[in-house]
Amino acid sequence: MLAPGVRWFDDWFAVEDVAPGVIAIGEPRFHQINWNYLILGSRRALLFDTGPGVRDISIAVRALTTLPVTALSSHMHFDHTGGLAKFRNIAMADLPELRACEQGGWFCAADELYRGFREGMVWTPVKVNQWLPIGSRIDLGGRVMELLHTPGHSTDSVSLWDAEANLLLAADYIYPGSLYAQIPGADLDAYHDTAERLLPMLREDTAIYCAHGDPDDHNTRRAPRLSRRDVSDLASSLTRLRASNDRPTTWPVNERMSLLLWDAAFASWQRQ
Ligand SMILES: [Zn+2]
Repeated sequence: MLAPGVRWFDDWFAVEDVAPGVIAIGEPRFHQINWNYLILGSRRALLFDTGPGVRDISIAVRALTTLPVTALSSHMHFDHTGGLAKFRNIAMADLPELRACEQGGWFCAADELYRGFREGMVWTPVKVNQWLPIGSRIDLGGRVMELLHTPGHSTDSVSLWDAEANLLLAADYIYPGSLYAQIPGADLDAYHDTAERLLPMLREDTAIYCAHGDPDDHNTRRAPRLSRRDVSDLASSLTRLRASNDRPTTWPVNERMSLLLWDAAFASWQRQ
């Protein structure tokens, strides 16, 4: 089930060292097959996404590092935020739709952002310790992660960019497989705009790690990885789609990706 170089942490979490100080923590037995990322600096660590919470990811994280850990979610969907309440240090992207979820010091993601009702899941209220403005440079000690707003899949999606390591953690913005643009909050204009903003930053050899992904050619699992060309293919496939004036429910991107669509994803194009 796991590709060479990927190891089981227990019978649920799979662990892969994807770059120096960057550990992917996968959940290949969960139906969404999530990949979360633990980024280690010299002074502290950042956990980018906490999985669906079916199992307690904090146990794996504590076994992997003794550094103080801050948890940050790429967006509020249930499969990325389920373990958030297991962490004492929680950072959140400072976006208006997320600020609106905080009341009396407690953060509860709105249903349309969380979408856990689809799986019978209920949000656990959390205290946010830190609101990070978009563009924040998160200094972990010897490693700086820049917080990018990357809407498309959802309005509240963020990614992390490590310029020095030439590494993008793209979360659900882009991944090998079917991109979910058939859900509330998905928007094709935002997908295209995000690609146009990312492309000048990315190099041919930039490693883009993703939060989901199809198995590899040997039908085994490893942290899903894409490259700049995939972002560029996404941008050009969106340009073709817009020019076609078509409203399909699926649209090919390249041999690794396609878009799943519904009418609402086209709304911003229709308004223009
Ligand atoms: Zn998502």
